[in-house]
Amino acid sequence: MLSGAGLSAASGIPTFRGADGLWEGHRIDQVATPVAWKRDPTLVRRFYDLRRVAAAKAEPNAAHAALTRLQRQWGPERVVLVTQNVDGLLTRAGAPSVIEMHGSLHRLRCEAREDHPRVAVSGPQDPEGECGLCLAPLRPDIVWFGETPHALGRISEAVAACTWFLSVGTSGVVYPAAGYVEQAAWSGATCLEINPEPAGGPFNYVLRGGAETLLPSLVDHWLAGTP
Ligand code: NAD
Repeated sequence: MLSGAGLSAASGIPTFRGADGLWEGHRIDQVATPVAWKRDPTLVRRFYDLRRVAAAKAEPNAAHAALTRLQRQWGPERVVLVTQNVDGLLTRAGAPSVIEMHGSLHRLRCEAREDHPRVAVSGPQDPEGECGLCLAPLRPDIVWFGETPHALGRISEAVAACTWFLSVGTSGVVYPAAGYVEQAAWSGATCLEINPEPAGGPFNYVLRGGAETLLPSLVDHWLAGTP
């Protein structure tokens, strides 16, 4: 199951691109690239501080709860939850295992070495914070444009092996996530999209509407039988 910003829309977290093509009033190249971080860390820190505060105030919605129920009942090997979201709401809903391929607002990482330990953060990031191993500055643990998402090998394996591929609330414009539906279809999976707007892709079934409305009954249906 691949989710995007639409999964958290009913929790009051705005999706990525507004009609103006901006993310919360900012151009992507101002706040979501390594170059932006080098150029103006204060602006980038403030941007993610605000997103972190908003995510902490938000509550998981019925769609997060439904996916959590499915994964708890069928187990994380059978229900692989991959999300592009950085808000942590699937985990807060109680999902046992979530692959956060674009990172998390709730962690910081070493600016110099990606393999150095992550640091949990709540509230605004301390600008003076340092990596515990090498004393380099800390940055948000967000995968910015131009960087490699997390767990790509694990995700690819799961996509190639799945019998059902469910895409929820993603516009299908950010790669590599946007390519997973093609990979799943090519491997013979049945592909289902839940989104009020068509995102495009080789879907066998499409449910138009909000995830918070459609997912709970779909999950009930699946749990009542075998998909
Ligand atoms: P996107 O904003 O590009 O697309 C959101 C999609 O959700 C759209 O196709 C829209 O039609 C759909 N949608 C809107 N309301 C919905 C609802 N109630 N139910 C189901 N679908 C709904 O998002 P994306 O494809 O995830 O790409 C966004 C990128 O920005 C990701 O890299 C992500 O890391 C980041 N981002 C994350 C969050 C978050 O963590 N909540 C929020 C904004 C952006």
